[in-house]
Amino acid sequence: MSHVESQAKPMTASPAERHTPTVDVVIIGAGLAGCALAWSLRWRGVRVRLLDRGEPGTPSRIAAGLMTPITGMRLAVTWRMTALLAAANAFYPRVEAETGATFYHPRPAVRLFGEPGEVDILTRKGDQLLGQVDRLEPRWPPGWFAHPFGGFILTQAARLDVPTFLAVTQQHFAAEGAFQIADVQLPQDIEPSASTIRLPRWGLTTRYVVFCTGYQPQPNPWFPQSALEPAKGEILTVSIPELHEDRVIYAQGIWLAPIGAGRFRVGSTYDLNHLDTLPTVAGREELLSKLRRFVRLPIHVIGHDAAVRPVARSRKPLLGVHAEFPRLAYCNGLGSKGSLSVPYCAEMLAEHLLADAPLDPEVDLQRGRR
Ligand SMILES: Cc1cc2nc3c(=O)[nH]c(=O)nc-3n(C[C@H](O)[C@H](O)[C@H](O)COP(=O)(O)OP(=O)(O)OC[C@H]3O[C@@H](n4cnc5c(N)ncnc54)[C@H](O)[C@@H]3O)c2cc1C
Repeated sequence: MSHVESQAKPMTASPAERHTPTVDVVIIGAGLAGCALAWSLRWRGVRVRLLDRGEPGTPSRIAAGLMTPITGMRLAVTWRMTALLAAANAFYPRVEAETGATFYHPRPAVRLFGEPGEVDILTRKGDQLLGQVDRLEPRWPPGWFAHPFGGFILTQAARLDVPTFLAVTQQHFAAEGAFQIADVQLPQDIEPSASTIRLPRWGLTTRYVVFCTGYQPQPNPWFPQSALEPAKGEILTVSIPELHEDRVIYAQGIWLAPIGAGRFRVGSTYDLNHLDTLPTVAGREELLSKLRRFVRLPIHVIGHDAAVRPVARSRKPLLGVHAEFPRLAYCNGLGSKGSLSVPYCAEMLAEHLLADAPLDPEVDLQRGRR
């Protein structure tokens, strides 16, 4: 989808409406989903208000921001890969240009094979991965990595510095009075009517409310979480002072992502049973044992975080409006690939709300009803 200004529906209230909107769209949740949607709407001239609890331990605050179009043992090509990459490559540099910040780092990544079978998968998938992979010619000193089966280069990978993207977005909108810390209680803080929605605690009347709330243990009365299958993930920050590699390395089902000054993020675990934000000894040991299978240098753990990913059962994002209250909208289910998929989703949802553009049927939460 292009960034050209859309032919948006006018967002002014009719005289018959009881309350004049103070803003056009209230976004609840300023993680990856809410921040991206805020930009997409703003670029279309929409008055946005972003409300967020400001809590630590959210997946967006701890995520490594890796963008990898080909993933897993079977080298699965990400759903809508070309469209997602195109949207991301336009979206993040545009935010960087507007804020003067740097947080988007397109850079090839390295994938090391863990067993000979993976080499066969790469050979079989050859044509499908054309343009996405390249030959690996490792020039590492022998004491750095164990890679008996070789590997390959992922040419179109990238890393989003998610905390910086969130911070500069929130600062940018706060400077215009469009971001505030708020813990919105559901349903009592939201009063929907046919034409507007009121949030009296903040003196707001708006045309739309969009829930970008990720996984929440508390129920949302309009968008039940039953379409989600949330998964806790743990991530380490380590120091490997002797390792000088600025590409992300994928191996043994985990990744090692450089963040500068000899430090790396290592992740991540995937746990469907413990939906909390507590780092565990088991999580740390799982990551370290896998890491030691391919990194031969001394490793020092300097940080350990955990959060719950909002994974959709469909394994695709979930977007759309409520069937009975079409002024209530939803952007969720970003799963393990939020950084890669959110620009595509935010642009699509913005066009849907403003110009009634159709949603990709595979992410439309009303699919089946239409
Ligand atoms: C360990 C780990 C590693 C990961 N690594 C990667 C990676 O490398 N690459 C990648 O693309 N993705 C990664 N992810 C996934 C990524 O983090 C998620 O896809 C993404 O962060 C989800 O963003 P979100 O905005 O939907 O949800 P969240 O980040 O949960 O944001 C929701 C926000 O809404 C706020 N909120 C909720 N309810 C309310 C309310 N009632 N009132 C006010 N505010 C509210 C919350 O406080 C929060 O700030 C990782 C996740 C984990 C856990």
